[in-house]
Amino acid sequence: MEKQNSQKNLQKTDPEIFHWIQQESQRQKEGLELIASENYTSPAVCETQGSLLTNKYAEGYPGKRYYGGCKYIDECENLAIERLKKLFKANFANVQPHSGSQANMAVFLAELKVGDKIMGLDLSHGGHLTHGSPVNFSGFLFESVFYRLNLKNQRLDFNQIEDQVKKEKPKLIIAGYSAYPREIDFKSFREISDRHGVLFLTDIAHIAGLIAGEVHSSPVPYADYITSTTHKTLRGPRGGIILCNEPAKAKKINSKIFPGIQGGPLEHVIAGKAVAFGEALRPSFKKYAKQIIKNAKTLEQIFHKENLQMVTGGTDNHLLLLDLSDRDVTGKTAEAMLEKAGLTVNKNTVPGEKLSPFVTSGIRLGTPALTTRGMKEQEMEQIALWIAQVIKNIENEALISKIRKDVQELCSQFPLYQG
Ligand SMILES: *Cc1c(COP(=O)(O)O)cnc(C)c1O
Repeated sequence: MEKQNSQKNLQKTDPEIFHWIQQESQRQKEGLELIASENYTSPAVCETQGSLLTNKYAEGYPGKRYYGGCKYIDECENLAIERLKKLFKANFANVQPHSGSQANMAVFLAELKVGDKIMGLDLSHGGHLTHGSPVNFSGFLFESVFYRLNLKNQRLDFNQIEDQVKKEKPKLIIAGYSAYPREIDFKSFREISDRHGVLFLTDIAHIAGLIAGEVHSSPVPYADYITSTTHKTLRGPRGGIILCNEPAKAKKINSKIFPGIQGGPLEHVIAGKAVAFGEALRPSFKKYAKQIIKNAKTLEQIFHKENLQMVTGGTDNHLLLLDLSDRDVTGKTAEAMLEKAGLTVNKNTVPGEKLSPFVTSGIRLGTPALTTRGMKEQEMEQIALWIAQVIKNIENEALISKIRKDVQELCSQFPLYQG
């Protein structure tokens, strides 16, 4: 990795942490990363996040800080804001949320009182913890109710969603998921929200890069608030963002992020976000987003041929859910054996799940990271065949070690960071 030079100090002062970073670099280089929510940032983003901007306190916002010495920090944060607004054609952006979860928390607290009702997609159908799960702040601060996928086609069903809204009368409805392989119809959510006087939040944590790359429709014209992470398909540093269009809403968000729920912003991360947004504004990012989808479609085709079942039968976006419930393999076992073969995936519930969330009947696969690595359709065909072989021969250790060697060979042809 390009960063190795700059880690000479670390090697001297803390050989233990240095060692584990080396091990993790090796793991990232030698394995095929198919976790749908992960990606590889550019070396420029890494350098920025590792810079001495981390030394600076900057509570407040550009031009209105509670600390002196912020004039260069202000330039960085303003660039992040301006680039992000341009990227998503939004009127307002807050780039300070430490993560996607903090972004959602700020929206809830900007608009709701503790105990108000929110409605998101059921976690086991692809929703996120912060959309009302009882083990998360969203579930213990707010009354949460859920809509579900139509179990016949495993897709969003707007009649069902509207019935649920009529019955439950939530104050806020959330669209945007962690494990939904199909395009989201934001306009239909807006129409339901308007008919029933409900606030509409979209959480585009997973698909932000696809929207920025114009291969998924944008929620910005429809939603009251848009939250996202910056580290998934958007390929920036680990963090969150919030977008909206109305000045009154922007004001509420700013004060909820700081001083509401956060203290000093992570300005080294915010500068890293600015670099990533700059990258996403280039024409090459559109090509990247297109290739993510082509790659996912290639996995879909091979899985079809191999008779592996997929939730909704396939994908429109960057991810696929293999449904193993017709086989003698759980998601947990599949995840473990694929890892042995050098393919990193995660176990995942499927709609109508019968097993516990620690076991599950599915695995989730995504193409953003492999696409960053430069892999295309040809490599996807090979990878899909390996996955099918592991799943169909889950106890065949010899086959799994052979695949592991082939995986390493493929990885060596696609070096993660040059030089
Ligand atoms: C990943 C994700 C988040 C949370 O992001 P963190 O940065 O891990 O807090 C929120 N919403 C959705 C839909 C996600 O997929």
